[in-house]
Amino acid sequence: MITSTLKNIAAMCGGQLLAPAAADIEVAGVVTDSRKIVPACLFVPLVGEKFDGHDYGAASLAAGAAGTLWQRDRGPAPEGGVILVEDTLIALQKLSASYLDIVKPQVVAITGSNGKTTTKDIVTALLESQYKVHKTQGNFNNHIGLPLTILSMASDTEVAILEMGMSGRGEIALLASLAPPDIAIITNIGESHLLQLGSRKEIARAKLEIAEGLKPGGLLVYNGDEPLLAEVMGEPGFQAPQEMRTFRFGLAADNDDYPTGMMAHSAGMSFTSHLHAERAFTLPLPGRHNVVNALAALAVARHFGITEEHIEQGLGGLRLTGMRIEVISVPCGLTLLNDAYNASPTSMRAAIDVIQAMKSSGSKIAVLGDMLELGPEEERYHREIGSYLNAEELDFVFTFGPLSTHIAEAATKTFGPDRVFAFTDKASLTELLIAKSTPKDIVLFKGSRGMRLEEVLGSLNAHY
Ligand code: ATP
Ligand code: MG
Repeated sequence: MITSTLKNIAAMCGGQLLAPAAADIEVAGVVTDSRKIVPACLFVPLVGEKFDGHDYGAASLAAGAAGTLWQRDRGPAPEGGVILVEDTLIALQKLSASYLDIVKPQVVAITGSNGKTTTKDIVTALLESQYKVHKTQGNFNNHIGLPLTILSMASDTEVAILEMGMSGRGEIALLASLAPPDIAIITNIGESHLLQLGSRKEIARAKLEIAEGLKPGGLLVYNGDEPLLAEVMGEPGFQAPQEMRTFRFGLAADNDDYPTGMMAHSAGMSFTSHLHAERAFTLPLPGRHNVVNALAALAVARHFGITEEHIEQGLGGLRLTGMRIEVISVPCGLTLLNDAYNASPTSMRAAIDVIQAMKSSGSKIAVLGDMLELGPEEERYHREIGSYLNAEELDFVFTFGPLSTHIAEAATKTFGPDRVFAFTDKASLTELLIAKSTPKDIVLFKGSRGMRLEEVLGSLNAHY
């Protein structure tokens, strides 16, 4: 994490230290949540719609913070190590950019509609045997999370692996300006944030801001199965950095790297790829989509000169951030697939592929919740999921939420009425799910964050 004096911090964020006597006070780390104050940290009070961190400025100093930023328009500052700034958020961002400039790690930036966190975790697993890496924790991928991620990086970090998320145009451009990437990955273009952006092409433009932010000579690793990416890069509005290099990965054989063989097994996937024809890699994650994520990560690993042996070991030692198709084996024999973290049509289909490809001695049950924020076409997207479900490969479909009734309606056409159950209350859903399931079954839970399907998973798990 950043360690410096208040005087240096003030210079780095373009602020003014109010008390000269505080100049040499040592700062270690930055905190924006006053409940997480640790001794010697710098408190950054942010102004939100419902809250104002400045209300906790004095208390944070009293609780041991070395100093605090203070936005000029927020009234009189408390006594102590106060750095006056015009805007605390912009100061936080500036501070992180200055710190990045001192540590100077190589930056791997990852965006895309789905698979950012997973790909970040795979890239980390591949590089950490040879490099001192720092990665985004959890999902700290926005205009506040990214600066905090950078500021928590050790001063000897060699590679920073940063997730960049967005919900509209210009956001990735900002993040890439704070941490200009040496390598940028675009995992895919899905339908998340269609409501805000209007079209998939506009989503592609938004994601490609990461390429425009690359350092000169930087490498763009992108999903070659998505024609919109190449299309947008051909538009006159697209500003490629000087001497940008590109690498395309995906399932199709016209990509620079693609899988030449894939096999699903109980612990994940085995695959070979065009560029590593002689070696079968094992990935402890289910689904073809995760093999595609791994191909993106392999491109980064090759760039850093990681050997195939180390790649193999790295994939084996992979640790994932929770709730992304987490496979939970209950001692009684039941298998729960927890993909309740979030959902969009692309990731919904990926999760459905996973359960449909699995072998079960009991039933295979999909519990699917609403996909939120899809815009005016939301009903159609839900109906399409219903038609995507394969009545030969799945036994029962449970849906939860008003939009998901469209999944149920479409699924009923192939499954018939006795195998599809639509609910808008969780208690009744849980009750029937318990009644229909046996300890030999595989049950998938997938829905948008707001649907909290992990609650149903928890109840089912508690029952067995
Ligand atoms: P967020 O926008 O919430 O940060 P993310 O892009 O970081 O999401 P992950 O957390 O890695 O994505 O994965 C979320 C879900 O998306 C996974 O549970 C999985 O079902 C699905 N997913 C992951 N990778 C892909 C992919 N390449 N294509 C389609 N779906 C994917
Ligand atoms: Mg994420």
